[in-house]
Amino acid sequence: MQLAAGQAPVLIQIHPQDNVAIVANDGGLPAGTALPDGLTLAEAVPQGHKVALRDLAQGDAVRRYNVVVGYAAQALPRGSWVNERVTTMPAARTLQDLPVGTRRIAPLPPLEGYTFQGYRNADGTVGTRNILAISTTVQCVQGVVEHAVARIRRELLPRYPNVDQVVGLEHTYGCGVAIDAPGAAIPVRTLHNIARNPNFGGATMVVSLGCEKLQPERLLAPGAIPIRAGQGMAGEGDVDTIVLQDDEHVGFESMIDNIMRTAERHLEKLNQRRRETCSASELVVGVQCGGSDAFSGVTANPAVGFAADLLVRAGATVMFSENTEVRDGIDQLTARAATPEVADALVREMAWYDDYLQRGHADRSANTSPGNKKGGLSNIVEKAMGSIVKSGSSNIDGVLSPGDRLTRKGLIFAATPASDFICGTLQLAAGMNLHIFTTGRGTPYGLAQVPVIKVATRSDLARRWHDLMDVDAGRIATGQASIEDVGWELFRLMLDVASGRRQTCAEKLKLHNALALFNPGPVT
Ligand code: CA
Repeated sequence: MQLAAGQAPVLIQIHPQDNVAIVANDGGLPAGTALPDGLTLAEAVPQGHKVALRDLAQGDAVRRYNVVVGYAAQALPRGSWVNERVTTMPAARTLQDLPVGTRRIAPLPPLEGYTFQGYRNADGTVGTRNILAISTTVQCVQGVVEHAVARIRRELLPRYPNVDQVVGLEHTYGCGVAIDAPGAAIPVRTLHNIARNPNFGGATMVVSLGCEKLQPERLLAPGAIPIRAGQGMAGEGDVDTIVLQDDEHVGFESMIDNIMRTAERHLEKLNQRRRETCSASELVVGVQCGGSDAFSGVTANPAVGFAADLLVRAGATVMFSENTEVRDGIDQLTARAATPEVADALVREMAWYDDYLQRGHADRSANTSPGNKKGGLSNIVEKAMGSIVKSGSSNIDGVLSPGDRLTRKGLIFAATPASDFICGTLQLAAGMNLHIFTTGRGTPYGLAQVPVIKVATRSDLARRWHDLMDVDAGRIATGQASIEDVGWELFRLMLDVASGRRQTCAEKLKLHNALALFNPGPVT
């Protein structure tokens, strides 16, 4: 390991009280590197990894973000590499006696005059894309729907230039499951609410097998909220259900013909829609991270947090999620709760998830991946401190349970697992019309249902994955841009992407992850 000629060693310390800092240089720093304040590296330290700024005795707290992110498992003299092998993880914070509303801040000054070109729906929501979505009740129909969607794209879509895409909402749920078990409510309401996503224009088309547990009636009305006019759908006449086992179907081709005829009716209606000028307050932005590294909490996530504050100031909706990545900062969240009810709901979701993990003989530490550790994140506490920054600094206005649909604007904690695909799927169900995804290790993640803007935490990743990353937040680490610069760039990019003026990298390359339902219920 050698420092490139002309390159100065750079350590990033987040908070003055921290006793570790991370190495910013591409490729890390070699042993013996002398740093400006007389610190000399005792050993080689990879990029993103922590260096002890002071002598740490065994048992001493390791502080980053001015939070104890671990304890020294052995003596760590100044200049040592501090990683997961030489530290232990703090216990999870209890959910009792949390501060409530202690950091409630005055509402941020409104941000007015920002607009985008969107598709208005009858229920008041606004789409950023004009998509025909075909819902499915059960995995059994997937092959038929995939075949039909390929033919619709090839034979019908070119005749409807105002429709962006046709998307099959396939999934692995629907049968072979205990559909009346309490845990089943989550996947069922998720599928119901995804069908109502603002990007689908208020029309619903369902393909069912016929004999499955999740009958179409249940998908369309799992609780007190049937899919009907004024609730995300343009009118009752726009709900079409095709049942493959119906007597009318004689052979495979008749199933495909039926799906294509129905799709054509929907395409005709969708094709009449036009973009209109909408206030930025109609944006519903879901933020999450995946393949995180130690830079996530230094560059990309703070920039997303700054943009989240801009969105909240513009009256928009921002959802942050990923239960295991906020669990260790729950006291920071309850302190920002706009009301005691919001704090109670935050604690309720955390307690439910603690219990869910415990049933599987796991805890929040199961979150971190080998790549996270390679990227310098020693444990889930350190990862969580960097992840939570995506939520910005405003009050938390509401909390959603997994699979629920938004009922208000502002900053919302939408409780989801941290799994990228499951989090994205649940944010789609909540009503997201734009997705922001930060990554340090790199992932080609994308969704077919909404545009996904990907933000790289490091310039090295942004350079190598130049056609996969939309924004390079690594410029913050190298001093080429400030958090505010990248935050504003992201905000303006969101308005352009939402308007259809720009496509994201994942859209151009048609990189789409499958829907992944959160099913805490039993299968049979
Ligand atoms: Ca994630």
